[in-house]
Amino acid sequence: MAGLHVRSLLVTGANRGIGLGLVQHFLRMPKPPQWIFAGCRDPKGQRAQELQNLASKHPNIIIIPLGRCPELGILCSTSSLGTPREPRAGRELCQRAGACRAIGHCHLWGNRGDSIMGTQALTSPVSALQNIKAAAAKVGEHLGGSGMNLLINNAGILKGSTLDTETLEDMSEVYTTNTIAPLLMGQAFLPLLKKAAQGSPGSGLSCSKAAIVNISSIGGSITSSFGWDIMQVTSYRCSKVPSHLCFPCKGVVPLQPPFPSHHHPLPVSPQAALNMLSKCQSLAYKEHGILCVALHPGWVQTDMGSSAGHTPPVTVDDSVQGMLKVLSSLSEKETGTFLDWEGKVIPW
Ligand code: NDP
Repeated sequence: MAGLHVRSLLVTGANRGIGLGLVQHFLRMPKPPQWIFAGCRDPKGQRAQELQNLASKHPNIIIIPLGRCPELGILCSTSSLGTPREPRAGRELCQRAGACRAIGHCHLWGNRGDSIMGTQALTSPVSALQNIKAAAAKVGEHLGGSGMNLLINNAGILKGSTLDTETLEDMSEVYTTNTIAPLLMGQAFLPLLKKAAQGSPGSGLSCSKAAIVNISSIGGSITSSFGWDIMQVTSYRCSKVPSHLCFPCKGVVPLQPPFPSHHHPLPVSPQAALNMLSKCQSLAYKEHGILCVALHPGWVQTDMGSSAGHTPPVTVDDSVQGMLKVLSSLSEKETGTFLDWEGKVIPW
Protein backbone atom coordinates (compact mmCIF):
# COMPACT_ATOMS: atom_id res chain seq x y z
CA MET A 1 0.00 0.00 0.00
CA ALA A 2 2.17 2.79 -1.36
CA GLY A 3 0.71 5.70 0.60
CA LEU A 4 0.15 4.02 3.97
CA HIS A 5 3.18 3.86 6.28
CA VAL A 6 1.96 3.14 9.76
CA ARG A 7 4.44 2.48 12.53
CA SER A 8 1.85 1.41 15.08
CA LEU A 9 -1.86 0.69 15.11
CA LEU A 10 -4.60 -0.91 17.15
CA VAL A 11 -7.53 -2.84 15.69
CA THR A 12 -10.42 -3.85 17.94
CA GLY A 13 -12.25 -7.13 17.32
CA ALA A 14 -9.07 -8.45 15.73
CA ASN A 15 -9.64 -12.15 16.29
CA ARG A 16 -12.01 -12.84 13.39
CA GLY A 17 -13.83 -11.34 10.42
CA ILE A 18 -12.76 -7.95 9.12
CA GLY A 19 -10.55 -7.23 12.16
CA LEU A 20 -8.46 -10.35 11.60
CA GLY A 21 -8.32 -9.52 7.87
CA LEU A 22 -6.94 -6.08 8.70
CA VAL A 23 -4.20 -7.59 10.89
CA GLN A 24 -3.26 -10.06 8.12
CA HIS A 25 -3.12 -7.34 5.46
CA PHE A 26 -0.97 -5.04 7.60
CA LEU A 27 1.44 -7.94 8.14
CA ARG A 28 1.71 -8.48 4.39
CA MET A 29 2.64 -4.88 3.63
CA PRO A 30 6.10 -4.36 2.13
CA LYS A 31 6.99 -2.44 5.28
CA PRO A 32 4.75 -3.88 8.03
CA PRO A 33 4.05 -1.80 11.14
CA GLN A 34 6.48 -2.14 14.00
CA TRP A 35 3.55 -2.74 16.35
CA ILE A 36 0.14 -4.20 15.59
CA PHE A 37 -2.01 -4.14 18.73
CA ALA A 38 -4.79 -6.66 18.28
CA GLY A 39 -7.75 -5.97 20.55
CA CYS A 40 -9.58 -9.13 21.51
CA ARG A 41 -12.11 -9.67 24.28
CA ASP A 42 -11.26 -13.29 24.91
CA PRO A 43 -7.63 -13.92 23.94
CA LYS A 44 -7.60 -17.42 25.43
CA GLY A 45 -10.88 -18.46 23.85
CA GLN A 46 -11.49 -20.74 20.91
CA ARG A 47 -12.36 -17.86 18.59
CA ALA A 48 -8.96 -16.24 19.17
CA GLN A 49 -7.00 -19.31 18.04
CA GLU A 50 -6.17 -17.98 14.58
CA LEU A 51 -5.01 -14.67 16.00
CA GLN A 52 -2.93 -16.47 18.64
CA ASN A 53 -1.28 -18.59 15.91
CA LEU A 54 -0.50 -15.46 13.92
CA ALA A 55 0.91 -13.69 16.98
CA SER A 56 3.15 -16.66 17.77
CA LYS A 57 4.78 -16.24 14.34
CA HIS A 58 4.90 -12.44 14.29
CA PRO A 59 6.38 -10.75 17.35
CA ASN A 60 5.07 -7.37 16.17
CA ILE A 61 1.51 -8.52 17.02
CA ILE A 62 0.59 -7.78 20.60
CA ILE A 63 -2.77 -9.12 21.72
CA ILE A 64 -4.56 -6.69 24.00
CA PRO A 65 -7.48 -8.00 26.11
CA LEU A 66 -10.20 -5.55 25.28
CA GLY A 67 -13.93 -5.71 25.39
CA ARG A 68 -16.91 -7.32 26.93
CA CYS A 69 -16.29 -10.65 28.64
CA PRO A 70 -18.30 -13.17 26.59
CA GLU A 71 -18.91 -15.35 29.63
CA LEU A 72 -20.22 -12.69 31.93
CA GLY A 73 -21.54 -10.10 29.56
CA ILE A 74 -19.54 -7.36 31.22
CA LEU A 75 -16.57 -5.41 30.11
CA CYS A 76 -13.82 -7.30 31.76
CA SER A 77 -10.10 -7.64 31.40
CA THR A 78 -7.33 -9.50 33.13
CA SER A 79 -5.53 -6.19 33.00
CA SER A 80 -8.30 -4.18 34.66
CA LEU A 81 -7.10 -1.69 37.17
CA GLY A 82 -7.62 -3.20 40.60
CA THR A 83 -7.59 -1.68 44.04
CA PRO A 84 -7.83 -3.51 47.38
CA ARG A 85 -11.53 -2.67 47.58
CA GLU A 86 -12.09 -3.67 43.99
CA PRO A 87 -10.12 -6.85 43.33
CA ARG A 88 -8.84 -7.48 39.85
CA ALA A 89 -11.43 -8.47 37.31
CA GLY A 90 -10.87 -10.97 34.60
CA ARG A 91 -11.30 -14.49 33.50
CA GLU A 92 -9.45 -15.81 36.55
CA LEU A 93 -12.13 -14.27 38.68
CA CYS A 94 -14.94 -15.59 36.48
CA GLN A 95 -13.53 -19.09 36.56
CA ARG A 96 -12.89 -19.00 40.26
CA ALA A 97 -16.27 -17.57 41.10
CA GLY A 98 -18.04 -19.85 38.65
CA ALA A 99 -21.43 -18.89 39.95
CA CYS A 100 -21.39 -15.39 38.45
CA ARG A 101 -23.53 -16.40 35.54
CA ALA A 102 -25.99 -18.19 37.77
CA ILE A 103 -26.45 -15.28 40.11
CA GLY A 104 -26.75 -12.91 37.21
CA HIS A 105 -24.01 -10.51 38.09
CA CYS A 106 -20.29 -10.40 38.61
CA HIS A 107 -18.86 -10.21 42.11
CA LEU A 108 -16.71 -7.34 41.00
CA TRP A 109 -18.98 -5.20 38.87
CA GLY A 110 -22.40 -6.39 39.92
CA ASN A 111 -22.87 -4.07 42.86
CA ARG A 112 -22.09 -0.80 41.25
CA GLY A 113 -23.01 0.95 38.11
CA ASP A 114 -24.64 -2.02 36.42
CA SER A 115 -28.10 -0.70 36.74
CA ILE A 116 -29.42 1.61 34.08
CA MET A 117 -32.92 2.91 34.63
CA GLY A 118 -33.64 0.20 37.17
CA THR A 119 -32.88 -2.67 34.82
CA GLN A 120 -29.74 -4.70 35.03
CA ALA A 121 -27.61 -3.65 32.11
CA LEU A 122 -24.85 -5.67 30.57
CA THR A 123 -22.15 -3.21 31.31
CA SER A 124 -21.44 0.09 32.98
CA PRO A 125 -19.59 3.09 31.65
CA VAL A 126 -17.28 2.81 34.67
CA SER A 127 -16.17 -0.73 33.90
CA ALA A 128 -15.92 0.10 30.19
CA LEU A 129 -13.67 3.02 30.86
CA GLN A 130 -11.40 1.08 33.21
CA ASN A 131 -11.02 -1.70 30.71
CA ILE A 132 -10.15 0.67 27.90
CA LYS A 133 -7.83 2.77 30.04
CA ALA A 134 -5.97 -0.37 31.03
CA ALA A 135 -5.57 -1.24 27.33
CA ALA A 136 -4.26 2.25 26.52
CA ALA A 137 -1.77 2.01 29.39
CA LYS A 138 -0.55 -1.34 28.13
CA VAL A 139 -0.13 -0.04 24.56
CA GLY A 140 1.68 3.05 25.92
CA GLU A 141 4.13 0.79 27.77
CA HIS A 142 4.98 -1.11 24.59
CA LEU A 143 5.43 2.06 22.59
CA GLY A 144 7.87 3.55 25.07
CA GLY A 145 7.91 7.27 24.39
CA SER A 146 6.39 7.23 20.92
CA GLY A 147 2.78 7.68 19.84
CA MET A 148 0.31 5.42 18.06
CA ASN A 149 -0.61 6.29 14.46
CA LEU A 150 -3.84 4.50 13.80
CA LEU A 151 -6.83 3.41 15.86
CA ILE A 152 -9.32 1.22 14.01
CA ASN A 153 -12.55 0.79 15.96
CA ASN A 154 -13.76 -2.34 14.23
CA ALA A 155 -15.39 -4.51 16.94
CA GLY A 156 -19.11 -4.53 16.51
CA ILE A 157 -22.26 -6.51 17.12
CA LEU A 158 -25.55 -6.83 15.37
CA LYS A 159 -28.68 -8.10 17.04
CA GLY A 160 -31.36 -9.51 14.84
CA SER A 161 -34.12 -7.99 16.95
CA THR A 162 -37.11 -6.49 15.26
CA LEU A 163 -38.60 -3.16 16.20
CA ASP A 164 -41.19 -5.06 18.19
CA THR A 165 -38.79 -7.36 20.01
CA GLU A 166 -36.04 -4.81 20.69
CA THR A 167 -35.22 -4.61 24.40
CA LEU A 168 -33.45 -2.20 26.67
CA GLU A 169 -30.75 -4.81 27.30
CA ASP A 170 -30.09 -5.48 23.61
CA MET A 171 -30.26 -1.84 22.66
CA SER A 172 -27.85 -0.96 25.50
CA GLU A 173 -25.43 -3.72 24.57
CA VAL A 174 -25.38 -2.78 20.90
CA TYR A 175 -25.10 0.92 21.63
CA THR A 176 -22.33 0.30 24.19
CA THR A 177 -20.30 -1.87 21.84
CA ASN A 178 -20.81 -0.02 18.57
CA THR A 179 -20.96 3.57 19.71
CA ILE A 180 -19.85 4.14 23.30
CA ALA A 181 -16.77 1.92 23.06
CA PRO A 182 -15.41 3.83 20.00
CA LEU A 183 -16.00 7.09 21.90
CA LEU A 184 -14.12 5.82 24.96
CA MET A 185 -11.37 4.33 22.78
CA GLY A 186 -10.88 7.72 21.11
CA GLN A 187 -10.67 9.42 24.49
CA ALA A 188 -8.28 6.89 26.02
CA PHE A 189 -5.96 6.73 23.00
CA LEU A 190 -6.02 10.46 22.27
CA PRO A 191 -2.71 11.14 24.09
CA LEU A 192 -0.95 8.44 22.02
CA LEU A 193 -2.53 9.66 18.77
CA LYS A 194 -1.58 13.26 19.58
CA LYS A 195 1.96 12.17 20.26
CA ALA A 196 2.10 10.41 16.89
CA ALA A 197 0.76 13.52 15.14
CA GLN A 198 3.29 15.75 16.89
CA GLY A 199 6.10 13.40 15.94
CA SER A 200 5.22 13.39 12.23
CA PRO A 201 6.53 16.01 9.86
CA GLY A 202 4.15 18.20 7.83
CA SER A 203 0.97 20.01 8.71
CA GLY A 204 -1.64 17.96 6.82
CA LEU A 205 -3.72 15.05 8.07
CA SER A 206 -3.20 11.45 7.01
CA CYS A 207 -3.71 7.91 8.24
CA SER A 208 0.07 7.39 8.28
CA LYS A 209 0.37 10.29 10.69
CA ALA A 210 -2.52 9.90 13.15
CA ALA A 211 -6.07 8.74 12.55
CA ILE A 212 -9.19 7.22 14.02
CA VAL A 213 -11.10 4.96 11.64
CA ASN A 214 -14.54 3.89 12.81
CA ILE A 215 -15.78 0.86 10.92
CA SER A 216 -19.36 1.87 10.41
CA SER A 217 -22.15 0.77 8.16
CA ILE A 218 -24.19 2.17 5.36
CA GLY A 219 -27.12 1.66 7.74
CA GLY A 220 -26.58 5.09 9.25
CA SER A 221 -27.69 8.53 8.21
CA ILE A 222 -26.80 11.99 9.41
CA THR A 223 -27.94 15.10 7.68
CA SER A 224 -25.83 17.89 9.08
CA SER A 225 -23.56 19.08 11.88
CA PHE A 226 -25.69 22.20 12.32
CA GLY A 227 -24.83 24.39 15.29
CA TRP A 228 -21.44 22.83 16.08
CA ASP A 229 -19.86 26.26 16.70
CA ILE A 230 -22.51 27.09 19.27
CA MET A 231 -22.89 23.79 21.07
CA GLN A 232 -20.86 20.62 20.69
CA VAL A 233 -23.21 18.45 22.82
CA THR A 234 -21.63 15.30 21.47
CA SER A 235 -23.58 12.79 23.53
CA TYR A 236 -26.83 14.47 22.56
CA ARG A 237 -25.91 14.45 18.87
CA CYS A 238 -24.91 10.81 19.09
CA SER A 239 -28.12 9.89 20.80
CA LYS A 240 -30.15 11.44 17.99
CA VAL A 241 -30.66 8.73 15.46
CA PRO A 242 -32.75 10.10 12.63
CA SER A 243 -33.95 6.75 11.37
CA HIS A 244 -33.56 3.02 11.48
CA LEU A 245 -32.70 1.09 8.39
CA CYS A 246 -34.25 -2.13 7.21
CA PHE A 247 -31.26 -4.14 6.02
CA PRO A 248 -33.05 -6.45 3.57
CA CYS A 249 -34.70 -3.74 1.52
CA LYS A 250 -32.66 -0.69 2.59
CA GLY A 251 -35.92 1.07 3.44
CA VAL A 252 -35.62 3.83 6.00
CA VAL A 253 -37.98 3.48 8.92
CA PRO A 254 -38.87 6.55 10.99
CA LEU A 255 -38.46 6.40 14.76
CA GLN A 256 -41.87 7.87 15.40
CA PRO A 257 -45.21 6.58 14.15
CA PRO A 258 -46.79 6.35 11.66
CA PHE A 259 -44.56 3.44 10.62
CA PRO A 260 -44.80 2.27 7.01
CA SER A 261 -46.29 -1.11 6.32
CA HIS A 262 -43.32 -3.33 5.78
CA HIS A 263 -42.51 -6.84 4.59
CA HIS A 264 -39.27 -7.31 6.49
CA PRO A 265 -38.37 -7.47 10.15
CA LEU A 266 -36.70 -4.22 11.13
CA PRO A 267 -33.29 -4.67 12.73
CA VAL A 268 -32.31 -1.54 14.61
CA SER A 269 -29.03 -0.01 13.50
CA PRO A 270 -27.01 2.10 15.96
CA GLN A 271 -24.53 2.99 13.23
CA ALA A 272 -26.03 6.40 12.65
CA ALA A 273 -24.83 7.28 16.13
CA LEU A 274 -21.35 6.05 15.27
CA ASN A 275 -21.39 8.16 12.12
CA MET A 276 -22.23 11.23 14.16
CA LEU A 277 -19.51 10.31 16.65
CA SER A 278 -17.00 10.11 13.76
CA LYS A 279 -18.06 13.57 12.65
CA CYS A 280 -17.73 14.93 16.21
CA GLN A 281 -14.29 13.34 16.60
CA SER A 282 -13.16 14.88 13.31
CA LEU A 283 -14.29 18.34 14.41
CA ALA A 284 -12.71 18.08 17.86
CA TYR A 285 -9.47 16.28 16.98
CA LYS A 286 -8.53 18.14 13.79
CA GLU A 287 -6.60 20.71 15.78
CA HIS A 288 -4.49 17.87 17.20
CA GLY A 289 -3.56 16.67 13.72
CA ILE A 290 -5.79 13.58 13.86
CA LEU A 291 -7.83 12.50 10.85
CA CYS A 292 -11.16 10.79 11.60
CA VAL A 293 -13.42 8.91 9.20
CA ALA A 294 -16.31 6.49 9.23
CA LEU A 295 -15.75 3.63 6.83
CA HIS A 296 -18.32 1.20 5.46
CA PRO A 297 -16.57 -2.11 4.68
CA GLY A 298 -19.14 -3.33 2.15
CA TRP A 299 -21.40 -6.29 2.71
CA VAL A 300 -18.73 -8.75 3.69
CA GLN A 301 -18.44 -12.53 4.07
CA THR A 302 -18.05 -12.71 7.83
CA ASP A 303 -20.14 -14.19 10.63
CA MET A 304 -21.96 -10.89 10.93
CA GLY A 305 -22.31 -10.34 7.20
CA SER A 306 -23.76 -13.81 6.74
CA SER A 307 -25.99 -13.73 9.79
CA ALA A 308 -29.15 -13.02 7.81
CA GLY A 309 -28.65 -16.26 5.86
CA HIS A 310 -27.43 -14.68 2.60
CA THR A 311 -23.94 -14.91 1.14
CA PRO A 312 -22.53 -11.40 1.03
CA PRO A 313 -20.92 -10.32 -2.25
CA VAL A 314 -17.60 -9.04 -0.86
CA THR A 315 -14.79 -11.21 0.53
CA VAL A 316 -12.86 -10.14 3.62
CA ASP A 317 -9.71 -9.83 1.49
CA ASP A 318 -11.34 -7.55 -1.08
CA SER A 319 -12.99 -5.43 1.59
CA VAL A 320 -9.79 -4.98 3.60
CA GLN A 321 -7.66 -4.36 0.53
CA GLY A 322 -10.15 -1.76 -0.64
CA MET A 323 -10.32 -0.06 2.76
CA LEU A 324 -6.53 0.10 3.08
CA LYS A 325 -6.30 1.65 -0.39
CA VAL A 326 -8.88 4.23 0.69
CA LEU A 327 -7.01 4.92 3.96
CA SER A 328 -3.76 5.40 2.07
CA SER A 329 -5.29 8.19 0.00
CA LEU A 330 -7.01 10.21 2.75
CA SER A 331 -5.99 13.76 3.62
CA GLU A 332 -7.54 16.68 5.54
CA LYS A 333 -10.11 17.00 2.76
CA GLU A 334 -11.69 13.73 3.81
CA THR A 335 -11.61 14.06 7.59
CA GLY A 336 -15.13 13.82 8.96
CA THR A 337 -16.49 12.02 5.93
CA PHE A 338 -18.28 8.72 5.54
CA LEU A 339 -16.76 6.56 2.81
CA ASP A 340 -17.13 3.01 1.65
CA TRP A 341 -14.46 0.40 0.98
CA GLU A 342 -14.17 1.58 -2.62
CA GLY A 343 -13.70 5.21 -1.65
CA LYS A 344 -17.22 6.30 -2.59
CA VAL A 345 -18.79 8.97 -0.41
CA ILE A 346 -21.87 7.68 1.43
CA PRO A 347 -24.53 10.30 2.08
CA TRP A 348 -25.04 10.94 5.78
P1 NDP B 1 -17.80 -10.39 13.02
O1 NDP B 1 -19.06 -10.73 13.71
O2 NDP B 1 -17.20 -11.36 12.08
O3 NDP B 1 -16.67 -10.01 14.11
C1 NDP B 1 -16.97 -9.10 15.12
C2 NDP B 1 -15.73 -8.83 15.95
O4 NDP B 1 -16.08 -7.90 16.98
C3 NDP B 1 -15.22 -10.08 16.68
O5 NDP B 1 -13.82 -10.00 16.80
C4 NDP B 1 -15.88 -9.97 18.04
O6 NDP B 1 -15.21 -10.68 19.09
C5 NDP B 1 -15.78 -8.48 18.25
N1 NDP B 1 -16.73 -8.04 19.27
C6 NDP B 1 -18.07 -8.13 19.26
N2 NDP B 1 -18.59 -7.62 20.37
C7 NDP B 1 -17.53 -7.20 21.14
C8 NDP B 1 -17.42 -6.58 22.39
N3 NDP B 1 -18.49 -6.29 23.11
N4 NDP B 1 -16.20 -6.29 22.85
C9 NDP B 1 -15.11 -6.57 22.12
N5 NDP B 1 -15.14 -7.16 20.91
C10 NDP B 1 -16.35 -7.47 20.43
O7 NDP B 1 -18.09 -9.00 12.32
P2 NDP B 1 -17.40 -8.29 11.05
O8 NDP B 1 -15.97 -8.61 11.00
O9 NDP B 1 -18.25 -8.53 9.88
O10 NDP B 1 -17.64 -6.77 11.46
C11 NDP B 1 -16.58 -5.88 11.78
C12 NDP B 1 -17.14 -4.47 11.74
O11 NDP B 1 -17.64 -4.18 10.42
C13 NDP B 1 -18.32 -4.26 12.68
O12 NDP B 1 -18.19 -3.00 13.31
C14 NDP B 1 -19.53 -4.25 11.76
O13 NDP B 1 -20.60 -3.46 12.26
C15 NDP B 1 -18.95 -3.66 10.50
N6 NDP B 1 -19.71 -4.00 9.31
C16 NDP B 1 -19.72 -5.28 8.81
C17 NDP B 1 -20.45 -5.57 7.68
C18 NDP B 1 -20.46 -6.93 7.07
O14 NDP B 1 -21.13 -7.12 6.05
N7 NDP B 1 -19.74 -7.91 7.62
C19 NDP B 1 -21.25 -4.55 6.98
C20 NDP B 1 -21.16 -3.24 7.57
C21 NDP B 1 -20.42 -2.99 8.69
P3 NDP B 1 -15.64 -12.19 19.51
O15 NDP B 1 -15.02 -13.11 18.52
O16 NDP B 1 -15.10 -12.33 20.88
O17 NDP B 1 -17.14 -12.24 19.44
